[in-house]
Amino acid sequence: MKGAYQIIDHMYDVIVVGAGGSGLRATMGAAEAGLRTANISKVFPTRSHTVAAQGGIAASLGNNTPDHWSWHMYDTVKGADWLGDQDAIEYLAREAPQAVYELEHAGVPFSRNEDGTIYQRPFGGHMQNMGDGPPVQRTCAAADRTGHAMLHALYQQSLKYDADFFIEYFALDLIMSEAGGEKKCVGVMAMCLDDGTIHRFRAQSVVLATGGYGRCYFTATSAHTCTGDGGGMVLRAGLPLQDMEFVQFHPTGIYGAGVLITEGARGEGGYLTNSEGERFMERYAPSAKDLASRDVVSRSMALEMREGRGHGPEGDHIHLHLDHIDPDVLAQRLPGITESGKIFAGVDLTRQALPVTPTVHYNMGGIPCNYHGQVVTLGKDGPDTVVPGLYAVGEAACVSVHGANRLGSNSLIDLVVFGRATGLHLKENLKAGASQPELPGDSSDFALGRVDHFRYAQGGSPTAAIRADMQKAMQAHAAVFRDSKLMDEGVEKLAQQNKRMEDIHVTDQSLIWNSDLIETLELDNLMAQANVTMASAANRKESRGAHAHEDFPDRNDKEWMKHTVAWFEGWGGQNGNIKIDYRPVHEYTLTEDATYIEPKARVY
Ligand SMILES: Cc1cc2nc3c(=O)[nH]c(=O)nc-3n(C[C@H](O)[C@H](O)[C@H](O)COP(=O)(O)OP(=O)(O)OC[C@H]3O[C@@H](n4cnc5c(N)ncnc54)[C@H](O)[C@@H]3O)c2cc1C
Repeated sequence: MKGAYQIIDHMYDVIVVGAGGSGLRATMGAAEAGLRTANISKVFPTRSHTVAAQGGIAASLGNNTPDHWSWHMYDTVKGADWLGDQDAIEYLAREAPQAVYELEHAGVPFSRNEDGTIYQRPFGGHMQNMGDGPPVQRTCAAADRTGHAMLHALYQQSLKYDADFFIEYFALDLIMSEAGGEKKCVGVMAMCLDDGTIHRFRAQSVVLATGGYGRCYFTATSAHTCTGDGGGMVLRAGLPLQDMEFVQFHPTGIYGAGVLITEGARGEGGYLTNSEGERFMERYAPSAKDLASRDVVSRSMALEMREGRGHGPEGDHIHLHLDHIDPDVLAQRLPGITESGKIFAGVDLTRQALPVTPTVHYNMGGIPCNYHGQVVTLGKDGPDTVVPGLYAVGEAACVSVHGANRLGSNSLIDLVVFGRATGLHLKENLKAGASQPELPGDSSDFALGRVDHFRYAQGGSPTAAIRADMQKAMQAHAAVFRDSKLMDEGVEKLAQQNKRMEDIHVTDQSLIWNSDLIETLELDNLMAQANVTMASAANRKESRGAHAHEDFPDRNDKEWMKHTVAWFEGWGGQNGNIKIDYRPVHEYTLTEDATYIEPKARVY
């Protein structure tokens, strides 16, 4: 090792990495249970990407239209194109109302109906009567700043229960023990961003709540911090990621800027038109129209543009209309996006249409886990073998409730339902202050060796150059529509970009707020996941949810109703081998109150 590093040791019952909605909810639960809990976050908690969530959070409260949790369950199973685990989806839908009331009591200032109940708006793919329709109003909203409100309330609650926060600390790698041939997580290594000190956290359990990896694409609605660091750590620990081929494109990113316009805009009556002024969604989804699920709307938009009916000289965008909506309603229910339209497109939404295009938005895939948040892998107990000491929640996780396509407003509810479930499982299974085994003598070697390697990397390719090429390759080869040729080329291109990591150049060698080094560590995390995403996509020979394979346009339940799990070997450009295997989809419910929803064709 070239550098000298000071290591500072800490011991807790629970370490949560990530302070977005899911990480804060898990932190709050563990701390409330009396467990010594610490949260590590690379950004200040209320700057986590959850802060940007606009539209709202789904729960069958039935305040504005009739609703039932079994309808929510049905819509989620269908939205997921039958790749979701129905036990976990039942849990999500049943627990959702309670989770929203909990947020209300924690101080989230939800928008209100006249009678004082929480206001709920329609969202894509959410219907009444077990999918038969009409659309249901299920999405609870605090205007169009729901995530912002949630994050502030949850941070306050975590502080109330005395959790410790390590803010602007960057988690590097998991500390794993392999006693008796079984992988077990015993802690995590992190670096303090402002002084470069290295921190070794020993814990009975580690919860990964590090968010998505949208930034492996060139244009994404997600924050620049969404680099999938948890997924990267899991791959380096020799564990797989699941269903990575399923990347959600949101229909309405602002053309050119990539900034999100919430689906709530269409929920409040907004609609899309092509260059002929036609409301084309009526052709593709006669019943749900502009409120069909996201994969369906994004594909329809892409087809319109491909067939020459896009707007603009390049025919490369679609118009979103809100100009027919009462300006007072816009000001009250969609103030944030009215502002975004003005700033990022120079458009006055009360009078003009907004240019939009499908934009990378959400990762359905992630760290495989069960509905308690426990990370699972293929192992001695079969496909649901629990990895002791390791949990995952939020967008970093794949429970899997979103399967092949997530419904709008189902992520925020996933954060709090499974963040809470994780807190409960920790409470039941850990003893506060229990003694912990000594860490293996080499526990910090791997993480430090990797930091040191990149810190002194003097190759010919700057981090930003490799990152841009990787992002462009993903944008071109893993887009809304894919075919075998395109994806096979993509696999090769990404392998080349991965190799280039060996030639990386880091200019700044200091340890004081070294953003060059941190962005390089983030790129290494992105690179592994971009490669796994591309390989998993090329491997799946069917179309399902967000994976639209032009050579295999139909869903094939007989051969492909299964979760992809993929392992990636190496880091920093070495090795790069990918292994793919499968886990069965849970084709059963959690309790007898729910009925298993048989696969059928998915039409809206
Ligand atoms: C613009 C936008 C709007 C959205 N709107 C909605 C909506 O209306 N409804 C809905 O249901 N969903 C919405 N989504 C999706 C939803 O907001 C996200 O999926 C969700 O907020 C992710 O939460 P999270 O807790 O998993 O992680 P995040 O909120 O992304 O937080 C990740 C946390 O991990 C930390 N972290 C990451 N890496 C490290 C590391 N190496 N070391 C230390 N800390 C680390 C970060 O500091 C951060 O605290 C939206 C998403 C976007 C991008």
